[in-house]
Amino acid sequence: MKRYRYRMYPDQEQCVHLVRVFGCARMVYNDVIAARRAAFAAGEKSPSVYDLMKLMARSKQTEERAWLGEVTDVALQQSMRGADAAYGNFFASLTGNRKGRKLGAPRFKSRKDHHDSFRITGRANFAVRKVGAHRGQVRLPKVGWVHFALSRDLPAAPSSLTVVRDPDGRYYVCFVVEASARTAPAPIHPCVGIDLGLDHLAVMAFDDGTSVKVDNPRHLNRKLRKLAAAQKELARRQKGSANREKSWHKVAVLHRKVRETRLDHHHMLARKVVDENQVIGLETLSIRGLGRTRMARSIHDAGWGTLVRLIEEKATEAGRTVVRADRFFPSTRMCSACGAVGEKKPLRIRSWTCRCGATHDRDVNAAANLRNVAAGQAETLNDCGGRVSPAPVPATTPEAVTALATT
Ligand SMILES: [Zn+2]
Repeated sequence: MKRYRYRMYPDQEQCVHLVRVFGCARMVYNDVIAARRAAFAAGEKSPSVYDLMKLMARSKQTEERAWLGEVTDVALQQSMRGADAAYGNFFASLTGNRKGRKLGAPRFKSRKDHHDSFRITGRANFAVRKVGAHRGQVRLPKVGWVHFALSRDLPAAPSSLTVVRDPDGRYYVCFVVEASARTAPAPIHPCVGIDLGLDHLAVMAFDDGTSVKVDNPRHLNRKLRKLAAAQKELARRQKGSANREKSWHKVAVLHRKVRETRLDHHHMLARKVVDENQVIGLETLSIRGLGRTRMARSIHDAGWGTLVRLIEEKATEAGRTVVRADRFFPSTRMCSACGAVGEKKPLRIRSWTCRCGATHDRDVNAAANLRNVAAGQAETLNDCGGRVSPAPVPATTPEAVTALATT
């Protein structure tokens, strides 16, 4: 499954209808949440989403809910399913059946969230066509053909789509397409290790001993002063005033620009990494933990999580292997030449010399250790025809040995 997102340009009349769909989708979403909360408070069994859909269909006959009939049913049903799925995830998280961060109970959606969307599947009978070199049209039920910027071709007919209105008022259409494997060019390197950081966004160490440092563009940092000014202006505006709405829009635009530039950059870097290397060694970062420290903003701005996700997605698509080192893998403390694990090294130490005589740049050494892990995996893959086992990594202290044993 792959997502293709395009800027959409509905005309004024279409906007009016789309806003109505957003509103209706939000309303039935909130209906599901209200019904489940009520059932919970009364100690009753939760109503099934199908029963709620039937209720919704019946409520359209009443005068006060007749306007639900003006929008496509599929969008309403998908929204109700979304609310139901949010509850499913919440309960799975409560009982420990869902990995990751604990989820809160689903909340009511508000118009003031400024995040509007609705989703429709193929059942809604939507259609897509190309009308120019970079122009496309999508037919939405009860709306008609809406223009969008076809910035890259869709490889196949989409199975579903989501219409989104960003906080700054832009419209997007996001298609889900069954992805076919992409043929990647022959890799230049059998393996690479990538150390993610703040001084440099990424340091890559290759099998031939060379390394490359990729600058951290710090997109947000550059726009931060502008953003601070805009936010200050927003804070001074009276709540509910037209000027406040304007300032709010300005802040939203700045945030979007930062987000888009960062994502573009990540896509390009991930594509390059995947095209050029067969096996990619990465660290397992606890970004959630780091995100709470003083460096939170810089770390968020670097967007490591997104970068790693993009590399993994593109690698799967291209038939490359991603090897994640254990969370306790001492990539910084270990000498990539002899494997000796030394003391913890504070951030200010940029280079150091091992007892074996090798002098290391801190980040290049970390990347080289990850490359060694990837290289071990590459060998295992060659020898055993795809068997996956932890890479053999020499370790000298008992602490490191136990850490590796948990992989
Ligand atoms: Zn050494």
